[in-house]
Amino acid sequence: MRPVLASLIFVFSLAVASANDASFDAAPAKPVSFKFQKKAPAAPAADDRLWITVKASGAESRETIVNTGISLEEISSDEVSGVGNARMAERLKSLGIKFKAVPLTQRFHMQDFPAEDAAFHNYARLTSDLQGLVAQSNGLASLFSIGRGWAGDKDIWCLRLNSSAHGVEKSDRPAIVYMGTHHAREHLSTEVPLLLAKYLIENRAKPEIASLLAKRDVYFIPMVNPDGAEYDIATGQYRMHRKNVRANDGGSVGVDLNRNYGYHWGEGGSSAEPDSDIYHGPSAFSEPETQAIKKFIEDRLDTMKVVLTFHSFSELILYPWGHKNGPIDDTRAQTAYETMAKTMAQWNGYTPEHSSDLYIASGDTTDWAWGAHKIFAFTFELTPKSMWDGGFYPGAGAISSTFAANLKPALYLLDLADDPYRAAGGNLSSSNVKSTLTANGGR
Ligand SMILES: [Zn+2]
Repeated sequence: MRPVLASLIFVFSLAVASANDASFDAAPAKPVSFKFQKKAPAAPAADDRLWITVKASGAESRETIVNTGISLEEISSDEVSGVGNARMAERLKSLGIKFKAVPLTQRFHMQDFPAEDAAFHNYARLTSDLQGLVAQSNGLASLFSIGRGWAGDKDIWCLRLNSSAHGVEKSDRPAIVYMGTHHAREHLSTEVPLLLAKYLIENRAKPEIASLLAKRDVYFIPMVNPDGAEYDIATGQYRMHRKNVRANDGGSVGVDLNRNYGYHWGEGGSSAEPDSDIYHGPSAFSEPETQAIKKFIEDRLDTMKVVLTFHSFSELILYPWGHKNGPIDDTRAQTAYETMAKTMAQWNGYTPEHSSDLYIASGDTTDWAWGAHKIFAFTFELTPKSMWDGGFYPGAGAISSTFAANLKPALYLLDLADDPYRAAGGNLSSSNVKSTLTANGGR
């Protein structure tokens, strides 16, 4: 290994352990400056996380890796990469697993908050834009808070499109909810549901859209984790923050909200260690953000039919189960899930699969929505496909194209929200989606 490279990359295996241990152990953690905000958690003194890459193929070997506490973020057929720390790297080593590790802050050239990314919505802009959408909607849209994030000063906003019921008023119409930004750094996942709401409001007079909106109760929660999203950009640099901002014992920040849901909580693919990026929290639904989603869904159980939760990245369409291998045991529902996922994949070009085909992950939104309430639930991992194409920070140029790619899938689920099992029957009765899709041309 060349000396210059050796300062950045540390390759381990049992065979070469002794030569590299010293350099690994001596790896300096790059200090990060933090700006404190009101009620913000104590920040760690330094970001000592590592970007760890391991040769691995198949869900089983990926599961071994994720169970060391590493959050897998990039998966190809023969290699995975993700965020961990020195302790997790030691676990890989003790398992005899070869890997590469670089300090996270070096792997991601933490740039100043870039002017070209100003199109992304921070919390303040999201709030004012949501209020603006309500104002321009002529009575179609309403806005309400479903709770607040961990810091207690930011609302988790829910925008509703329903001309006959506003705010938290009851409605008999079949309901769907689109969510974004459970994970702080996945800012693109706020933009897509926000643009979808904007699209529906601006096109509400078009017959095919008007027809859909007249029959549905449509909800958008574009920023489930407002504190985390703000924390990620609060220093003027992207911080690669995934979790919320709970101040953990030991000084680490945050619980992984997408491991905190209460269906098979705390099982495989989540971590009990607070400094893990996949820390599942002290108990199921321990966090105000997941409590807010739980209450929001459970207040609408009689009508809520579909959940679509946007994440990034990898270009995937995921559906239950995540906490265990194999299909759900309701074959009709399984057929509906597969049909829906494959149909949507034709439009956005993403890969449809069981969540656990990637690796086991417990406590996520979709397992809970389906497992606890039999609500059809999908996770979309948005653009890009890989870290090399921008990863969590693909740039503002990705916003409109990613929205365009996912418009058809989003409208398709909206149409199916009266009875998602229709997908299993193979006869989509509504012509709304088809005509809308033709009109908008997809990507
Ligand atoms: Zn995510």
